[in-house]
Amino acid sequence: MLERAESYEALVSGFRWRIPARYNIADVACSAFAARAPEREALLHLREDGSVERWTYGRLDEASSRLANALKAQGVTRGERVALLLPQSPQTLLSHLAVYKLGAVAVPLANLFGVDALRYRLADSGAAAVITDAAGLAKLSEIRDELGTLRLIVSTDGAAPGALCFDTLVSQGAASFEAAATGPDDPAMMIYTSGTTGQPKGALHGHRVLAGHLPGIQMAHEFLPRPGDLFWTPADWAWAGGLLNALLPALTLGVPVVSYRFEKFDPERAFALLERFAVRNAFIPPTALKMMRAVTNPRARFDLALRTVGSAGEALGRETYDWAREDLGLTVNEFYGQTECNAILASCAALGVSRAGAIGKPVPGHEVAVIGEDGSVLAPGEQGQIAVRRPDPVMFLRYWGQDEATLGKFIGDWMTTGDQGVVDEDGYVHFVGRDDDIITSAGYRIGPGEIEDCLLSHPAVALAAVVGKPDPLRTEIVKAFIVPTTGVAPDAALEEEIRDHVRTRLSAHEYPREIAFVEELPMTTTGKVIRRLLREDAAHGGLETEE
Ligand code: ATP
Ligand code: MG
Repeated sequence: MLERAESYEALVSGFRWRIPARYNIADVACSAFAARAPEREALLHLREDGSVERWTYGRLDEASSRLANALKAQGVTRGERVALLLPQSPQTLLSHLAVYKLGAVAVPLANLFGVDALRYRLADSGAAAVITDAAGLAKLSEIRDELGTLRLIVSTDGAAPGALCFDTLVSQGAASFEAAATGPDDPAMMIYTSGTTGQPKGALHGHRVLAGHLPGIQMAHEFLPRPGDLFWTPADWAWAGGLLNALLPALTLGVPVVSYRFEKFDPERAFALLERFAVRNAFIPPTALKMMRAVTNPRARFDLALRTVGSAGEALGRETYDWAREDLGLTVNEFYGQTECNAILASCAALGVSRAGAIGKPVPGHEVAVIGEDGSVLAPGEQGQIAVRRPDPVMFLRYWGQDEATLGKFIGDWMTTGDQGVVDEDGYVHFVGRDDDIITSAGYRIGPGEIEDCLLSHPAVALAAVVGKPDPLRTEIVKAFIVPTTGVAPDAALEEEIRDHVRTRLSAHEYPREIAFVEELPMTTTGKVIRRLLREDAAHGGLETEE
């Protein structure tokens, strides 16, 4: 945990990890509060009909113990993988807590996944049980026969053929459960990477992953908890972003969480939710913030109580940073990490650690550097790979069933991220791009982020993604895929205007020689642009509607 400090330097020098030898996520995120203050509010769930369901720590603790007992009676044992195919809901939180109490391994899966994505992850993880809702059951029915390890299905929407009823299990299980005596390194959860660059890999984490997140989250949310804090994220809890950047740390710090199931992110409804609950702290990934930019003058329409907004998962960019300062009246604290090792760089506006276009600085407790191919630490200004030194409590244990990939992740004690970055003279880390997204054009190595950011500053551009298109002369040329602002009808004149816009603001070698206007960009379930698909598209033709 972070203590408040007067400066970033004091924050770093005053920090040391204190993770007890017995550490279980369910204990720290719930049972500890339930013992001390059972009536304390923990979860406010906004139902589809507009009503609100309230859960205290005491009630969560008891219901999750009942569920743990029931799952144990059904044969779920320590170390087994239990998949949770559920949206933001009280049942999802109860399932997580029950799995941690059992010492089993939670495998969160996004509701948006189709049958193929589920088959891959359930088979790869060898899940013994799945807890899911009616929509999930329908998908499971298509693949259940192929999943040899799957023994138990629990339905949160009442009993169904081949599935036990969640509520019945909770009502039948005994009310107390002694959480498994796990240590920090014992497996707690397995989260599949977003699959932005290829087949997703299961990153296995120990219980310590929660402790490892706290300093970064406290920094980005400026010394969370402060009196009156209340947390919300639109990010799916099935993603490291929703689960470990929002839900679990907030609860661990005693901050109540608002939950709501967004079928599809809707900026108007997001603002309405922020207002209704007087949300003080929000984790909002860059894509969602970029969509919120479309709501004009939000502070005139919504009464916002926001104290902090953290953002991670993609580059935030200057445009969105500036927009939030102006239109939300606060500085977004960008932070950075990946499923394998998260929340390791962060901003903290309250301490003056905030720079438009930069991610931030190393979070206390993590050693982060930009390194060269031989693992040497590069000097400020030199571009290389962002890396984290082990041991680090937030670092994954290994990829599930992929020992080679785990080994390949390290150069000596440095865990590589596959992301290119630069440290500036003041110690800020700047994101250049994913290794695969870097564009090589006429001898220059160009990161897509800066160009995308520049494109966004043009009023006709709502969203933009930039990739390299193979070119016989220049190796690659910059190609931009642009979603125009509502009401804009793109034509050749606009295309030329946008090209000029980038040429004059950035440089002559970075402007997009080709532009395609599209209705939408391919996104992962976590809302990240899949540039790989755009790259394939640019190389082989297809998506573009205009040239
Ligand atoms: P896969 O590894 O399967 O291709 P993924 O890397 O998108 O998927 P995640 O672990 O969810 O899966 O995402 C981590 C990545 O997101 C980082 O490696 C980085 O590329 C990007 N990212 C996270 N935070 C930031 C940030 N603040 N700025 C820029 N990029 C970020
Ligand atoms: Mg990755």
